[in-house]
Amino acid sequence: MRRVYLDHAATTPVHPQVLEKMLPFFKELYGNPSSIHQFGREVAIEIDKAREKVAKGINAQFPEEIFFTSGGTEADNLAIFGVAKALKDKGKHIITSVIEHHAVLDACESLEKEGFELTKVPVDSDGLIDLEFLKSAVRDDTILITIMHANNEVGTIQPIKEVVKIAKEKGIYVHTDAVQTFGNIPVDVQELGVDLLTISAHKIYGPKGVGALYVRKGTKIKGISYGGGQERKIRPGTENVPGIIGFGEAAKICIETFEKNKEIARLRDKLIDGLLKIEDVKLNGHRTNRLPGNVNVSIEYIEGEALLLSLDMEGIAASSGSACTSGSLDPSHVLLAMGLSHQTAHGSLRLTLGKDTTEEDIDYCLKVIPEVVERLRKM
Ligand code: PMP
Repeated sequence: MRRVYLDHAATTPVHPQVLEKMLPFFKELYGNPSSIHQFGREVAIEIDKAREKVAKGINAQFPEEIFFTSGGTEADNLAIFGVAKALKDKGKHIITSVIEHHAVLDACESLEKEGFELTKVPVDSDGLIDLEFLKSAVRDDTILITIMHANNEVGTIQPIKEVVKIAKEKGIYVHTDAVQTFGNIPVDVQELGVDLLTISAHKIYGPKGVGALYVRKGTKIKGISYGGGQERKIRPGTENVPGIIGFGEAAKICIETFEKNKEIARLRDKLIDGLLKIEDVKLNGHRTNRLPGNVNVSIEYIEGEALLLSLDMEGIAASSGSACTSGSLDPSHVLLAMGLSHQTAHGSLRLTLGKDTTEEDIDYCLKVIPEVVERLRKM
């Protein structure tokens, strides 16, 4: 049976060149980068090279603006709690959106218990944030606006430059979670103008358990964990050396192979067009302003889980999109916020394409999915 992996938004396969680059750091290059002897120094030099590659990937001006973390989740937490801690005397109001990843949403909500106030910007039926609402939500005591660059479920890309414009008039920091965009659409911190930005290696054909927070030079932030002086005290503890080395290589390859995203978008459109031919199927997310690899559809009259399991039996790995929610069988908070009913949100299917996706994979899906839908609707 054909195996078709269409869950690249959840994670991507490690690029063979990334693996090659990492292997010596599990073997002979085992020194701790904080040690002053040769063993440590040679590793520290390689960490710096990886930092430069990641910095270059997002067009950061200085490599020191990159703080390596254990992934996108930790980077989001560090941005939110770190800024809250540094600026709590200036103000205690934070703005986010209703469709953020739980790494942002739950972190912000936990601050409410510590006396912070939270405003959540609503989205329209395409998943685009309401900029007018944002403008009116800004207050003198607002210290941070955190809005994702693109949504992991529906792929809608947010107008971050506009968000920054609103924030800068009032001197408010902007953080964006770019976990889903880095490598897929241009992510340029100068162009976007953000102060803080989150990325993760395992979404860009790098290893799991490593990510980074970009912190623009001069941004006030405090560390949220305590230990040694690594990552300039903002993120202490011995670094995940092989992971960081792999992340650097993955970032470099991503930029070199960026053109491939055009082909991915072509295959995405073919898949969307084909799926919309099935009766009572609706596209979720913006039609054009969406990630090149993201397809998300609601299929009426079937249960999402039944569909996912049936597709799995046909060799197609897909997702409901809300896999990052605590109980993945809950209807997605993103789709509900976009105005879908509980029932429709339950029947959603996310297929996310990657650099290894072929025309044959898409043809296979367009043959199998309508058959499976028909079968399930008859049950
Ligand atoms: N933010 C977004 C938008 C994501 O899609 C993910 C991964 N599902 C994360 C944050 C968390 O990243 P990580 O898995 O590296 O912790």
